[in-house]
Amino acid sequence: MTATDAMECRACGREERASEGYPCQGCGTFICQPCNMRGVLLCKKCQEADTAPRPITRPAAQ
Ligand SMILES: [Zn+2]
Ligand SMILES: [Zn+2]
Repeated sequence: MTATDAMECRACGREERASEGYPCQGCGTFICQPCNMRGVLLCKKCQEADTAPRPITRPAAQ
């Protein structure tokens, strides 16, 4: 069997070994080990969603 377990990392876009990667903390997609070691826990999509301005309901009184 010559099957490779390479998967495209959804954070950096490189193909890395799926068996050495980690699931995105947001959606569970593949994040490669080098990214994970750099502290990347979210795929690009989830990072964008995480940093995108979102409506925050603040207390009116301040
Ligand atoms: Zn990566
Ligand atoms: Zn994700």
